[in-house]
Amino acid sequence: MFEKVTVPEEGHKIEIAGDALRVPDDPIISFIEGDGIGPDIWAATRRVVDAAAEKKYGGARRIVWMEIFAGDKAQRVYGEGVVMPDDTLRAIPEFVVAIKGPLTTPVGGGYRSLNVTMRQKLDLYACVRPVRWIQGVPSPVKHPEKLNVVIFRENTEDVYAGIEWREGTPEVAKVLAFMNEEMGCNIRLDSGVGVKPISITGSKNIARKALRYAGDRKLPSVTFVHKGNIMKFTEGAFKDWGYELAREEFGDETVTEAELWEKYDGKVPAGKIVVKDRIADSMFQQILLRPDEYSVVVTPNLNGDYLSDAAAAQVGGLGMAPGANMGDFVALFEATHGTAPKYAGQDKVNPSSLILSGVMMLEYLGWQEAADAVVAAMAKTIQEKVVTYDLARQMEGARKVKTSEYAARIAENIS
Ligand code: NAP
Repeated sequence: MFEKVTVPEEGHKIEIAGDALRVPDDPIISFIEGDGIGPDIWAATRRVVDAAAEKKYGGARRIVWMEIFAGDKAQRVYGEGVVMPDDTLRAIPEFVVAIKGPLTTPVGGGYRSLNVTMRQKLDLYACVRPVRWIQGVPSPVKHPEKLNVVIFRENTEDVYAGIEWREGTPEVAKVLAFMNEEMGCNIRLDSGVGVKPISITGSKNIARKALRYAGDRKLPSVTFVHKGNIMKFTEGAFKDWGYELAREEFGDETVTEAELWEKYDGKVPAGKIVVKDRIADSMFQQILLRPDEYSVVVTPNLNGDYLSDAAAAQVGGLGMAPGANMGDFVALFEATHGTAPKYAGQDKVNPSSLILSGVMMLEYLGWQEAADAVVAAMAKTIQEKVVTYDLARQMEGARKVKTSEYAARIAENIS
């Protein structure tokens, strides 16, 4: 079936049945260790996730892990230059759910971002980032508990689509000639050019996923964040298509902010999700000053990238922020920070981001008890002040421990 991936003899595949997942009690889940600090934080995550399944289900449910490869390790297994093997791109959709550590992206040259490649090749169009505070985590704001949002960032389009031409090349000369001579633009001839495509399909896919998420969990609002005052036909259209989809497919469940004042005197009718929008720059202020007015947030690709890191900073930084890349069913859970190469192999960094991505994964499997148990055990561990260096330097009286010791303590604290 695969060139270098060994499919475990035990365990079963997760299946897609109609519009739901069918998860066996022993699902095979693929993992990519990742580069840099990846192996350290992956080992910690696996230990905690396995401990939670064992403690909550006593062997009746367990994950059967299957290693797949990308980045540096792929080159070791498949040969130099192979950083994203076909095996990996086939295994992820075949086994539906996967989890990964961070992967190196060379800046300004070398190969293309592996994360972007995976998102585009597997059509993982939604980057989902829940941002909430875990009690005890040091935060730069007075009320970190007021921020509890899930950011749905469109993952395949916008200026991240990877359509760009370098300054001085014959390709960019052709593009510039077309734009200046035929489209009436006046672009400097010493420019590099990138393209920002935003489609109805991409915008509606992410809006649908966010609205469904809000509906399933009875969340109060969905906010489209955009820069439509400047970029009318891309960001502005993103917002308009979002409202259109809410009306077309979720009309009974939603009310817009405008309707709320026109028809309901500002009071939300029982059971309705309020659909609203905010200009991107003002949203950075809103999440700091009025964080409790936001619940599910939907953004195009670039703004979502910025906003999710800014939001994560409010609740303790990227070391604590989980994420997932999702298509209609296929889901790839991942740490949101990078490979932090200077700490590689030191058993030092904070594995919470990947562990909390493991929590998202457990929730996605429907193993809610195990997911809740990990969050409670992590909160307990942090309140005991048993933490890695990054949190220790912000806490008084903390005991600074290694990645593996922190994971071991969380595993012990699972009840
Ligand atoms: P980074 O790896 O996220 O690290 C930047 C800094 O953030 C670290 O030096 C450290 O700060 C802190 N940090 C990151 N992860 C941490 C953790 N788990 N625990 C504690 N502190 C942590 O960002 P980068 O140096 O810009 O990127 C390095 C590589 O990662 C690049 O190749 C980049 O493309 C790649 N990357 C991959 C992904 C992904 O795979 N999803 C995402 C982002 C970046 P201090 O030194 O101040 O403690």
